[in-house]
Amino acid sequence: MVNGVVAEFSPALDLVLSALEQMRERGEKLPRASRVSLVRLRRPIPLEPQPAGRVGISDKAALLAPIRARVAVCVKCPHLAATRTQTVFGVGNPDAEVMFIGEAPGADEDARGEPFVGRAGQLLTKIIAAMGFSRADVYIANVLKCRPDMPRGSSGNRPPTPAEMQTCLPYLAEQIDIIQPKVMVALGATAVEGLLGTRGTMREMRGKWHSHRETPLMITYHPSYLLRNQAPSEKRKVWEDMLQVLERIGRPISEKQRNYFR
Ligand code: URA
Repeated sequence: MVNGVVAEFSPALDLVLSALEQMRERGEKLPRASRVSLVRLRRPIPLEPQPAGRVGISDKAALLAPIRARVAVCVKCPHLAATRTQTVFGVGNPDAEVMFIGEAPGADEDARGEPFVGRAGQLLTKIIAAMGFSRADVYIANVLKCRPDMPRGSSGNRPPTPAEMQTCLPYLAEQIDIIQPKVMVALGATAVEGLLGTRGTMREMRGKWHSHRETPLMITYHPSYLLRNQAPSEKRKVWEDMLQVLERIGRPISEKQRNYFR
């Protein structure tokens, strides 16, 4: 019966879905059709009313997979495609409540294919652990999916150019659209520029709630800043920003956590 109903309406549903997909592609604002909503619409109508809720983890993982595949063969920035070892898509729980967004892969990330695994990444992993999470609980991604190329023979990293960011940002937008985290954390000025399109000073912007397409966005220092500037006062600022994140998602905060860096 239910399948009969679905079969009867399916040509109409296909028309509506393809119109919505096209609106999405054109970036039209109203009505908004997220990828997750489109997946929900495609599901067979259940016999019994289903509990309202977020889309299941397997749905989100399945939605991320084709984007990861497109990113893996992306050559939109030929100079980066020619110099990268591999792309660095993102890691963690597709159903995460908290999503961390950094700048771009460095040499270690380019070698491993995973974001934040070098020195700055190890510090980020410690911060995540102090929050009571593992890397597998949260989602971690970057504005750029390729390592910014460096002149031959020179080591170190360079920030992405505005053109590289504009080219790559649609991939991050798709990731956010699917993951739908409760809260995002922008790590450093490049992530802020990518998400908000502004380049203010970190001193003014960090520690406050901003908003990215209706998702609360906390801005904090990049872990590599903490590696350069070892002052306890700077570590404390980042930790206070993370306490705000925990509060916002309703996680209980222990006395020990409250008193870190005090
Ligand atoms: N810095 C970043 O911003 N991202 C990484 O993945 C590694 C270092």
